[in-house]
Amino acid sequence: MGIVVAKFGGTSLADATQFRKVKNILLADENRMYVVPSAPGRRDSDDVKVTDMLYSCHKLAQEQKLSEFEQVFQMLSERYLEIIEELELGLDFKPHLEQVHYSILHGASVDYAASRGEYLNGIILAAYLGWQFIDAAEVIFFDASGKFDSERTNEVLSARLAGTRYAVIPGFYGSNPDGSIKTFSRGGSDVTGAIVARAAGAELYENWTDVSGFLMADPRIVKRPKRIHVITYRELRELSYMGAGVLHEDAIFPVRMAGIPINIRNTNEPENAGTMIVRADESHVRGAITGIAGKKGFTAIAIEKNMMNSELGFGRRVLEALEECNVSFEHMPSGIDTMTVLVSDSNIAGRIDEVVEKIRRACKPDHIEVISGLSLVATVGRGMVRYPGTAARVFGALADSGINIRMIDQGSSEINIIAGVESADFERAVNAIYNAFMK
Ligand code: ASP
Repeated sequence: MGIVVAKFGGTSLADATQFRKVKNILLADENRMYVVPSAPGRRDSDDVKVTDMLYSCHKLAQEQKLSEFEQVFQMLSERYLEIIEELELGLDFKPHLEQVHYSILHGASVDYAASRGEYLNGIILAAYLGWQFIDAAEVIFFDASGKFDSERTNEVLSARLAGTRYAVIPGFYGSNPDGSIKTFSRGGSDVTGAIVARAAGAELYENWTDVSGFLMADPRIVKRPKRIHVITYRELRELSYMGAGVLHEDAIFPVRMAGIPINIRNTNEPENAGTMIVRADESHVRGAITGIAGKKGFTAIAIEKNMMNSELGFGRRVLEALEECNVSFEHMPSGIDTMTVLVSDSNIAGRIDEVVEKIRRACKPDHIEVISGLSLVATVGRGMVRYPGTAARVFGALADSGINIRMIDQGSSEINIIAGVESADFERAVNAIYNAFMK
């Protein structure tokens, strides 16, 4: 086995008990050479993430609410000091905390403040493991326009890693060309982990969290859904677009590009193999599905016109009408004389009449209908490509449950069948499809 890069999320490093679990996991496999920590997360549902405390500190400092600032800063300092004390590290952490305290009070940027959660946690983890600490600001770069500079980063970081075995690289941030700190968007330690995996030429990127991989459906909708063992990047993209998010979207790209698989694992259940995200998987069962996801809050504009198929420019005029109203569409299934444009409610709010009027004028349809209160249910699976019967099973399950299908879209990817149903039927629809494939 080659190099493994392990990223640990906030709940995996929330206190000393979690730190011990992380150390055991890392020491269990000598290939786990680089570790990317998040900031300490919630210990229970009432707890506050350290990153959120840092955002508050920055805001309170800006507003000159100094006694409140001190209170929050004290709380976050205690989170770290408790970990150090319980792990008996004997680390003199005061100078680090004082530096952060001083900087936030003296005009440091919000990104600097937020990044310190990972920075400080990285110092502690490195001391606990006896590994080297590499400040992400020295190896992860953004360009002058604020975009992640993947080439420069890859060059500097891979050279640095080539000379450093067993190191801790804090997640979530890097530096601007002037050396100041910049963070990725929230949840961005996933991105750092992927960047490190690419630069290290890793064979595997492990993403340790508090769930044992992805589930086939949302457990709030389906009772005890099965775990997904293997999923392709493309399937994951389809599922996460439809709301099944566990991983930061940008985290996929660096590793996907390099063909490095991602393994989603659970720090609290390390014996579980979790979910493996891969480029392609030939061993799948034909006709089987990988997962079901869905979203509420859609409106369909159904347009009908006799001989629409032979009218040049019809589709363009419909889309132009949307564009003029600044509305983007999500799906556009069409028939011979019909065309439906699906838009999210948040996107078209307050502009439906304007859009319909524009389409009427530009396209002169025979009939145009607005159907609101729709939900989309996506059934995703690489096993459905060119395999007859998957769609029949999806639609049969919905029919058997008495659910009216308002729209169907298979798209050209052939790994995703989308059904539009009334929002009142949403949960029932997800369960019906899940059960149809689980029997
Ligand atoms: N600590 C950061 C956040 O809360 C980044 C991360 O955890 O991935 O968003």
